Amino acid sequence: MTAPARSKASPLVIRTTNELQAWSDSCRQQGRTIAMVPTMGALHEGHLSLVDAAAKAADVVVVSIFVNPTQFGPGEDFDAYPRTETADLEKLKGHAVEVVFAPNAAQMYPDGFATSISVGGPSMGLETDFRPHFFSGVATVVAKLLLAARPHFAVFGEKDYQQLLVVRRMTRDLNIGTEIIGCPTLREADGLALSSRNAYLDAPARQKAARLPAVLKHVIVSLEAGAPVETALADGRAALERSGFEVDYLSLCDAATLGAPIPGHQRRLLVAARLGSTRLIDNMPVKAGD
Ligand code: AMP
Repeated sequence: MTAPARSKASPLVIRTTNELQAWSDSCRQQGRTIAMVPTMGALHEGHLSLVDAAAKAADVVVVSIFVNPTQFGPGEDFDAYPRTETADLEKLKGHAVEVVFAPNAAQMYPDGFATSISVGGPSMGLETDFRPHFFSGVATVVAKLLLAARPHFAVFGEKDYQQLLVVRRMTRDLNIGTEIIGCPTLREADGLALSSRNAYLDAPARQKAARLPAVLKHVIVSLEAGAPVETALADGRAALERSGFEVDYLSLCDAATLGAPIPGHQRRLLVAARLGSTRLIDNMPVKAGD
């Protein structure tokens, strides 16, 4: 496929999976490696850090922007989710992005679409206990994106740690042939993880939101000092509730599988908590315990 004329600074916007496949084929024929960064748009510096990691990993970068309806449940924020394509394209200028794939829902889920991917293992528990539909929606859309773009690498944030493990499991299990790269979470100065959903927080809620990473850090200090896990988690949950959060989960898991912690293995502390109608998630590494 010959790329249409475009300004050097602006990515080419592709809206159909056929065109994306043709672009990918032409890159591969030229021997260029591809890295993909799947997003739902409303881009922030966290997304841009993934784009920069992608540019280091491969010759060309494709960013997808698609608010995926199948990963939202009834009553969730699908309609309210920020859609800011023009501003997103502007932010990507200067970040070595060759293509932005921005399909509509009919392109991804044409009439009669009837397939969904169910991942076990790292999908079990945590988010699935509160959003049972979520990971099959994510796995299905990520599989479609990877099979259309056929990237050598795809970059995901540790911000969504369970999602990162689920996507890695799915690509291995289905022999998709893309290596999944995980990148660290970018945070505001007060520690709050950057997230498109932070836009929902009014000023008082935004101030309270910084308690989430602060409490995680506090719990980690206790755990690494040898406090009993149940006590450290109960204290953390109580601290969040005192700050006005409703806690969905605050869990200590094995970092590789998200199963129960294993003595001598790296652990991960994961949280999901709501401030009013805004649901925030975060996680941090915890050193191995005994
Ligand atoms: P989203 O648009 O929220 O679906 O996120 C797209 C990708 O960006 C996912 O792989 C997220 O894990 C990643 N991401 C979101 N927030 C951050 C952040 N603060 N730091 C690093 N990566 C992030």
